[in-house]
Amino acid sequence: MDHIIRVPMGKSNSYLIKGNKGYILIDAGTQNKHENIKCALKRFKANLSDIKLIIITHVHYDHVGSLYQIKKESTAPVLVHTSEQADLANGFTYFPKGTMAFSKAISNISNKFFLSKKQFQPIKADIIIDDSFNLNTYGVEGEVIHTPGHTRGSICIILEGKYCFTGDTMFNLLPGSVYPPFANDEELLIESWKKINSYNCLKYYPGHGKEFDKEKFKISLAKRT
Ligand SMILES: [Zn+2]
Ligand SMILES: [Zn+2]
Repeated sequence: MDHIIRVPMGKSNSYLIKGNKGYILIDAGTQNKHENIKCALKRFKANLSDIKLIIITHVHYDHVGSLYQIKKESTAPVLVHTSEQADLANGFTYFPKGTMAFSKAISNISNKFFLSKKQFQPIKADIIIDDSFNLNTYGVEGEVIHTPGHTRGSICIILEGKYCFTGDTMFNLLPGSVYPPFANDEELLIESWKKINSYNCLKYYPGHGKEFDKEKFKISLAKRT
């Protein structure tokens, strides 16, 4: 999978996908991390202007923190789901609900006290999607699909029918499960997990933590259904 590059961006991951027409960037990390993307591209003798599309899996401060800078320097269009475009344009999103005792506490504290966990530089999206979006025109065999739950407009990317970029629809930080510690609607989240399962991907690339394989996802799904 030489064409998939994970770029640590503070608290979260970004991913670069190398296609026939340049790169697709998935997510934009926390604030002031745009140099990380530049460094990753440099290793492949590329620069920010080689990014042809920026996909935002969902609008949380840890996924759009460096978006303003990256968009400005790359001039690439930004794609988001229609349910997230207003948050992106406003530069503000509430911290999501916790799904476990520890994360419920973090969510409450963050919403009450930490403005930095809700605010970011506002950006106007260029491509607004609904149910799905085909990536062929960007030189990549892939599809963006709507997977609500973590947020209303969360999306995943299915690449070549084998690799799934999950955003925060899955977290790989705990052993034994990739269930996210934060989700605004857990019922919708499970429906989205079933939808993702129907693609039967081999590898999963989460917004937090390292890549994991099909077995870990299947075990996590079985525990919740
Ligand atoms: Zn999130
Ligand atoms: Zn996140």
